[in-house]
Formats: sequence, C-alpha cells, structure tokens
Amino acid sequence: MSAQAEPAPAPRLVKLNLTLAQELGLDPAALDSPAGAAIFAGNVLPEGALPLAQAYAGHQFGGFVPQLGDGRALLLGEVIDRHGQRRDIQLKGSGRTAFSRGGDGKAALGPVLREYLLGEAMHGLGIPTTRALAAVTTGAPVFRERPLPGAVLTRIASSHLRVGTFQFFAARGDPAKVRQLADYAIARHYPVALLAPNPYLAFLEAVRDRQAELIARWMHVGFIHGVMNTDNMAISGETIDYGPCAFLDRYHAQTVFSSIDRQGRYAYGQQPSIARWNLARFAETLLPLIHEDQPQAIELATAALDHFTDRYDAAWINGMRTKLGLLGAPQTTDLALANDFLQALEDQQVDFTLAFRHLALAAQGNEEPIRALFQHPAPYDRWAAGWLARLMEQSAQAMNAVNPVYIARNHQVELALSAATENQDFAPFEKLLTVLAAPFTERPGLAEYAQPAPQGNAGYQTFCGT
Ligand code: AMP
Ligand code: MG
Repeated sequence: MSAQAEPAPAPRLVKLNLTLAQELGLDPAALDSPAGAAIFAGNVLPEGALPLAQAYAGHQFGGFVPQLGDGRALLLGEVIDRHGQRRDIQLKGSGRTAFSRGGDGKAALGPVLREYLLGEAMHGLGIPTTRALAAVTTGAPVFRERPLPGAVLTRIASSHLRVGTFQFFAARGDPAKVRQLADYAIARHYPVALLAPNPYLAFLEAVRDRQAELIARWMHVGFIHGVMNTDNMAISGETIDYGPCAFLDRYHAQTVFSSIDRQGRYAYGQQPSIARWNLARFAETLLPLIHEDQPQAIELATAALDHFTDRYDAAWINGMRTKLGLLGAPQTTDLALANDFLQALEDQQVDFTLAFRHLALAAQGNEEPIRALFQHPAPYDRWAAGWLARLMEQSAQAMNAVNPVYIARNHQVELALSAATENQDFAPFEKLLTVLAAPFTERPGLAEYAQPAPQGNAGYQTFCGT
C-alpha cells in the first residue's frame, strides 16, 4: 500500500554507515549532510522512490493476527548493490501508515540505536542480518511512558518478505496471490529452486535450511532474538526486527530477557523448536502450491519439515566443533563433549562468551583463566581431560576465529543508549560500534568490553519499546 512519511520538524543525522552506503553504490559524502538527514527522516524522497507500507500477518506469541503490516515502516525502494544483490531500503519510525492500528508509527532514539548496534554486531560476527544504514533524530518527541527523542532508522534488507507475508495472503484465501508471492521470493532469493521437479517444495526446503543455519549461528554466539513471531522471520534467512533481543551473559538455556515474554516462549534454548514451528506455519501457506491433492501436499511438506532438526543439529555441532577446537575428522564423542561443556557452564552460571574465549588459552596450555571462571573447577577439570586429548596444533587459532571476544554486552548497550538519549553523547555508541565491528580480534585498551557487567546482570530486562 502506498504511504507517506510524516515530516520531521528538525532532522539530524546521528549516524551514517559509510561502508554500507558505499557497498550499496550510494554517495556517502552526499548523504552525510542536512540533505541526507532529510531523506533519512522521510522528509525528502530520493528520486524515483514510490514508498509503500507492506502488508503481513503473523503469529504473535502463538496467536494468529490476520493483519499486522508495516505500522511504522516505509519501504523507500530497492537498489542493486556493488555485488549485484538487490537490497531493500526501509525507514522505520517515519510515521503512521494504513497498518498502524493504535500505534503512532514512531520510534524512539533508544530502540533505533539498539537495532543499529545489535544488527551491526551480528554483521560483525558474520551472521546474516538486516543492516543499519542511518539513524536520524526527528526533533519531535515520541510519547511512551514519558516523552523520548523521536528517531528514524534506515534499514537495509535483502528483502522484507516474512513468513507473515505469506500468511497474510493465505489467510485471505487467495492462493493466486500466494503463488505470485512465492514466485517472486523464489526468483529473488532461491532461483535454484526453479530447477527442482517441485519448485515450491524446494523453496520450502531452502528456507528451512537457511533458517536451520541461521538459528545455529545465533546459538553459537548466545544471541536471543526475543520475539520470534512469524512476522519477524525473514524468508531470506536474515536476522530481522531487533526488538528486545540480547546476548547471553551467564549461560543458561532458559534465559529470557524480554519483559513481554513471560512464559519463556522465546527463551534462548527454545529458539530451534520455535523456528521449526514457524516453518510449519510457512509450509501451511504453501500447501496448495506443493500439491493439488491436500493429503499429498501435507505429506510432502511434513517430510520436508522433519528434516529441519537434522539440518539444525548438523549446523549446530559443526559450529560447536570449531568453537571447541575439535578439528580433523568428526568423532561420535564430539556431541557429548559439547553438551557436557554447556552443562558445566549452566551448572555454575559461567559467562558464555568468556568461557569459549578462555578455552582457547587452555588449548595453548594456560588453563588458569578458564578454571577461574568456575567457582568449583573440578567439573571443568574432569571434562577437560577428555577435551585436551582431542585438540590439535591449530585448535586455538581456529577457536579464536569463531569465538568472539567482544559481544554487544547488555550493560555496554545500555550505557551507549543512555548517554545518547539522555546527554546527546554519542561517543559511547560510536566506540561500541567500532569494538563490535571486529569482534574476534582482541585489541589493547578494550578490556572493559570483554567483561561481564561488574555487578552481574541478574534481572536484566529488555523492552519492545518501539
Ligand atoms: P514488532 O513487535 O516490532 O515486530 O511489531 C509488530 C507489529 O506492530 C508490526 O505490525 C509493527 O508495524 C507494529 N508496530 C509496532 N510499533 C508500532 C508503532 N509505534 N506504531 C505503529 N505500529 C507499530
Ligand atoms: Mg516485527
């Protein structure tokens, strides 16, 4: 549906992603200006843009909502980037649309900077994600529990097609539209599916595999999305819609940070099964395309979904092998080694990120740092006896290439956001972005970014607060 931004009274560019602008074939110097701020606030349309708000439906915390849609986002258009990839440019927080329901269509500066930081952190970790191109303040307050500075995020995605986009047309009983959408998504993201005997089944399988891979990558770095509703699952396999997301500090599989997730539906350890559940909702929309005979369609789709778990398990253990330095031919004992280590971390609430980073030191003969993370190192010692025997010369190096030393730690994110929103001090935000751009490379002077919160993070909560 076509839509317009609400004019911002005093747009100010607070951050422009210069390297991403270049990658998109845009002119960073021209955008780094009041004229750029006017574009990123939605006040001025780039030439040729026909902005629109996209319709979608979705299961939110398990309950189906037949119409959600871009209630505060505007798709400006697409560009072909330097690698020949088509990318969407979307404003988030630019005002009401036909899908706003009771909302104001706005975004506050804190959540905009949060999405910027977390998305760029994921990109730095090499995990598929939407990205932030720019953040502007609008000069107008948004009203939440209290007035907050209004802002707009410019987001880049390889597309904004969601599981919920398919659900929207399927729920309206419009299989022709679902087919049109599927054809479009296949052409844009999975063209090889066209070569398969059943392209729509191949499409489902391809999305399944991308999601299995993606969720495994989240688990490897301790990322908790926080709202894995079907409208927040991208068909492209990119991480999308950074709301109350956060990285684990102390390892516990049932960790939930989101204040709205009271049942723990989207807890860290639930993410693989929720992804599979979401894919089942996706598969349902494709049934009429997969086979004209419904029982046969269901059988084919179910068989495809049944492979989610083995795809996920394979991606997970592969990644865990590298995280643990278990190089060479895979061994059947690797799975137990990985699970036992996590159990030991969970039992003693050890910091997930530090633990893997310190293991690389142990692999080089210095076991003191990892042992010091455990209040009672005996369980670690027992585990390490088997682990050390499995290591190779190159283990430590391989481990450090996949185990980040710097993640977007909750307390650092909060510090950066509060300095920006309360004191207009963007230095901590800029610094954190720089740290997170190279998360695997330990650098002098950045020790505080590698440490858990000094007083711990018990009770830390994140909010949707959009
Ligand atoms: P989210 O929880 O951010 O994934 O959003 C769920 C739905 O609520 C989407 O349809 C959003 O567009 C809509 N939404 C969230 N915040 C606002 C807002 N401030 N104004 C209008 N719609 C909103
Ligand atoms: Mg969303």
